[in-house]
Amino acid sequence: MLLQIAPIGPLADRLLSEEFGAIRLWEEPKSWLTQHGAEVELVATSVRAGCGPEILAALPRLRAISSWGVGHETLDVAGAHARGISVATTPDVLDDCVADLAWGLLMAAARRIPTADRYVRAGQWKEVGHFPLTTKVSGKKLGILGLGRIGAAIARRGLGFAMEVRYHGRGPKPGVSYGFEPSLKDLAAWCDFLVVACEGGPATRHLVSAEVLDALGPRGILVNIARGSVVDQEALIAALQAGRLGSAGLDVLQGEPGAPLALRQQDNVVLTPHVGSATHETREAMERLVVDNLRAFRRDGTLLTPVRA
Ligand code: NAP
Repeated sequence: MLLQIAPIGPLADRLLSEEFGAIRLWEEPKSWLTQHGAEVELVATSVRAGCGPEILAALPRLRAISSWGVGHETLDVAGAHARGISVATTPDVLDDCVADLAWGLLMAAARRIPTADRYVRAGQWKEVGHFPLTTKVSGKKLGILGLGRIGAAIARRGLGFAMEVRYHGRGPKPGVSYGFEPSLKDLAAWCDFLVVACEGGPATRHLVSAEVLDALGPRGILVNIARGSVVDQEALIAALQAGRLGSAGLDVLQGEPGAPLALRQQDNVVLTPHVGSATHETREAMERLVVDNLRAFRRDGTLLTPVRA
C-alpha cells in the first residue's frame, strides 16, 4: 500500500492515485495511521510535509519514501536508513531554475531593479530625474557557500559573466578548478557576491553569522536560495539597517512563509517567496520524478535518485 502524506501537485497526485491507489492521509480520519499503518510499504511526501520519526514509527513495514524537493531536513533519513528504508528526493531536475533565480536575485540586488521599477511607476523618472548609480555585476568575484549540484550551476553561470569563482564547504571538491576557501569569513571578505547554496538543517544553522556579514561588507551582496536557517537573520537585518552590508537577495527566510517587517521595509533587499524551482517545466519534472522513483522501486527495489547514507 502507498501512503501519500500531503498533496504534492496535480500531476503527481493524479498518477499516484491512478497507478498506486494512493491513500491520501489528509483526507483520512486521525485514527487512520494507528489502524492501517502496518499495511503501508511506500510513502510519497514532500520536503514541506516531511516524514519524521513519529510517522516512521507508525509504519513498521515501510520500504521506501519518495519525497518531492531536494532538501531532506524534514525527513528522518537517518532513522529510515537504520531500518533499511530507502529514501529518494528530486535533485538535478531543479538545478537550472534555482541557479537562474539566484542570478536573478543577484542582478536585481546589484542593479536595484525592483527599486528602479518602483521609481518609474511612481513617476519619479520624469519628476526627479536620473536614478542613482548601482553596482556592476560582470567581472566581479563570486563566492559560493556549498558547491553542490545547485552551487555548481550557479558557478557555471558566473563564468559567463567573466567572474572569478571561489567556494566554501566542508572540504575541497576533487576535480574542481574554482578556488576552495577553508574559511567562510575569508571567502566573504574576498568576494563581491556571496551566494548561499548549501543544505539546511542543524549542521549549517547560522553559518552566515554577523562576522561573515561584516566581512562581506558595505559593498557586498548576499544571495540566499538555500534555507533561511543558514543565515543569522537578526544579524542580517541589523547589518542591512546599519549599512554594514550592501544588499541582499533572499528567496528563503527564517519563519517563512512571510517576511518580517524589518526586512520588508529595507530598500536594499530583494525578496521572493521561496520560488527557486517554481516554474511550470521544473515543477512538472519534480512531480514526475517522485512517481518515477516509486515506479522503479516497485519494479526492482531500487530508487532512481536515492539520498545516500
Ligand atoms: P547538494 O548537491 O547536496 O549540495 C549541498 C551542498 O551543501 C554540498 O555541496 C555541501 O558541500 C554543502 N554543505 C553541506 N553541509 C555543509 C556544511 N556543514 N558546511 C558547508 N557546506 C555544507 O544539494 P543541492 O541539490 O545543490 O541543493 C542545495 C540546497 O538548496 C538544498 O539542500 C535546499 O535546501 C536548497 N534548495 C532551495 C530551493 C529553493 O526553491 N530556493 C530549491 C531546491 C533546493 P560539501 O559537501 O563540500 O560540504
